Amino acid sequence: MAGEHPTPILRTEADLSRLPASDRIRYRLVGAGHRYHANDNIARFIEAGEMDELKAEVESKMHEVLRALVIDTESDHNTNDTAKRVAKMFLTEVFRGRYVKMPAVTEFPNAERLNELMIVGPVKVRSACSHHLCPILGRVWIGVLPNEHSNLIGLSKYARICEWIMSRPQIQEEAVTMLANELSERVKPDGLAIVMEADHFCMHWRGVKDDESMMTNSVMRGAFLKDANLRREFLSLLSKKDLR
Ligand SMILES: [Zn+2]
Repeated sequence: MAGEHPTPILRTEADLSRLPASDRIRYRLVGAGHRYHANDNIARFIEAGEMDELKAEVESKMHEVLRALVIDTESDHNTNDTAKRVAKMFLTEVFRGRYVKMPAVTEFPNAERLNELMIVGPVKVRSACSHHLCPILGRVWIGVLPNEHSNLIGLSKYARICEWIMSRPQIQEEAVTMLANELSERVKPDGLAIVMEADHFCMHWRGVKDDESMMTNSVMRGAFLKDANLRREFLSLLSKKDLR
């Protein structure tokens, strides 16, 4: 293909429309100098109708994977539609957070001047590891210390933003940092603390088959870094909420 059609430096829309959707989207990403790692959101580079094209593309590649695994997807009724199911699952469920825009969040000024520690959680986490695409299931707790200039968001929105960031192939340390960055930017609190505890299925299913697959990590920012009492208060409230 590459030999037949040398890539011109500036493609026209007509050239682009002949490319598979994934190449078209990649072309826009590269042009904009936008990173597209597994845990990056690329929603604003995807145009109407292209998600369906991506689904068809992933389905056909997944079909090739099954073929390479020497699975007879024609006679085996269990795997007839596996390629289609997996494509749909990746794009619209488990990696959805890469392809859709951030959920709409209404921020409202801190009119009551709340400045008490607020804890949200546990928020259920369903993610996947970037290394093996195996599930990561866990929980997240978020501690916020607002000040009078903070923008408050509804409690359920913390869970929605968390879900949006986690439903991508992730690395746990990067996932909590991404979540912290997003919340810092929206809420602008004096302090932000996030604790994530998750079970990494690639540890059970493959490799060492180690049952010690729970991983806990945290991000502490602002007041939570400076104030040991605040940090203790947050962590002690979590232990009451059954953090193992
Ligand atoms: Zn893994």
